[in-house]
Amino acid sequence: MKYIPTIGIECHVQLSTKTKLFSEVDNDARGKEPNSCVSPVDYALPGMLPRLNGEAVKFAIRAGKAMNCEINPKSRFDRKHYFYPDSPKGYQITQFYQPIIGAGYVELPSGTRIRIEHAHLEGDAGKLTHFDTYSLVDLNRVDTPLIEIVSMPDIHSAKDAHDYCKELWRLMRYAKVTYGDLYNGNMRFDINVSVAPEGSDQLGTRAEIKNLNSFRSVERAVEYEIARQTKLLEAGEKVVQETRGWNDATGKTTGQRSKEEAKDYRYMPEPDLPPINLSVEFIEAETAKLPLMPSNYRDMFDKTIIKDTLEVLLDYPELMEKLNEVGQDNAKFLSNLFASVLLAEEKSAEYLNDLPSGEELKELAKMNAEKELSSTATKEVFLKLFDPQMKGRGARNIAKELGVIQENDLSALEAIVDIVLAKPATAKAQADFRAGEEKVIGFLVGQVMKESHGKANPSTVQQILRNKLVK
Ligand code: MN
Repeated sequence: MKYIPTIGIECHVQLSTKTKLFSEVDNDARGKEPNSCVSPVDYALPGMLPRLNGEAVKFAIRAGKAMNCEINPKSRFDRKHYFYPDSPKGYQITQFYQPIIGAGYVELPSGTRIRIEHAHLEGDAGKLTHFDTYSLVDLNRVDTPLIEIVSMPDIHSAKDAHDYCKELWRLMRYAKVTYGDLYNGNMRFDINVSVAPEGSDQLGTRAEIKNLNSFRSVERAVEYEIARQTKLLEAGEKVVQETRGWNDATGKTTGQRSKEEAKDYRYMPEPDLPPINLSVEFIEAETAKLPLMPSNYRDMFDKTIIKDTLEVLLDYPELMEKLNEVGQDNAKFLSNLFASVLLAEEKSAEYLNDLPSGEELKELAKMNAEKELSSTATKEVFLKLFDPQMKGRGARNIAKELGVIQENDLSALEAIVDIVLAKPATAKAQADFRAGEEKVIGFLVGQVMKESHGKANPSTVQQILRNKLVK
């Protein structure tokens, strides 16, 4: 019997707002002391009341629109109760009954659409670090704004699970709502995996794997779960509904605890926060701030940039903005330099923070098209455009400084060729060429290149030489 896997994914995205979801404390705790970005609201001092951060609402609108979702004009918050040291309030403020983001979809590079069920705003929990005999609590992360994106069970392979998570990461970064630093948990994926016999109208019992933070671990965990569950069913055994942990080192999942039901959390409306009411104008104003999205770029460069190159570059919104800025004619040429030279460069991460202007890049493209720069010189000048030491100097000035501009002026080149042909040292080669020995042309071109200090355009030189020698 054939078994069909079905995967649903919940993704938590940390929003890069200035302050926290319900207090005025700094939301960016990177490099700060534990428990230094915490207000009395965050550590739940009795009597403290939350106040909603309007910026987080704006971010949620942009994130929702990036996923082609409806934005609900009315939404509100609820309390999700659980008792754990990382949550001083004893509950999480989330949106259970009326989330801010409604249904939508994400389109994968393959064209497959994954529907979004909804997405909601909520506060993050603190962080526990476990030692042998004790654990330490850091509340810096408490009530960092999150959106939790819940997919429909539309994913049926490990590859699509990987692609979906990656596309979400791209969309959230294009929408500028998160730093998108996966290593530090800015985006975390919970995956539900089940398998059912082909043709069955019911889904199988699912296992949930929480808190994955790389696309690769999502793909591997899904692969492992599909194999594990299929094997159980084939042996006539049952899959247990449970939360399982992923071990990256062993490449396996292991059972942790049976899954809680929604009723275990005793959801109730949050009495301390009023509902969110959004006007059409407010939603439209925020939507208008969205830049071009990956799907727009795929349509735009469909004919100019090879798909594989485009998919690599789409991970870098700043590079795509640049390609848009320089126009179709230059985009093909520059996309190759971005992919094969810039991203291969050791300092590329640093270079990406401060890109050269579109004008500088266009100047480089023009110099290359007019054969003023060889392909080697083009790459050299291109990288110098990103060098902080060379910033703003422009492609032509840099090329001049490096002395790599090719001489294309025909009369100037002819004069150099004449000098070389007048040298007794080239007399034999000239005679050999006239006698039909083709390959000595290389020697003669080399002599002209030397005479021009490497600035002559070799193919033009060869043409001039041939004309002069056959006369
Ligand atoms: Mn959540």
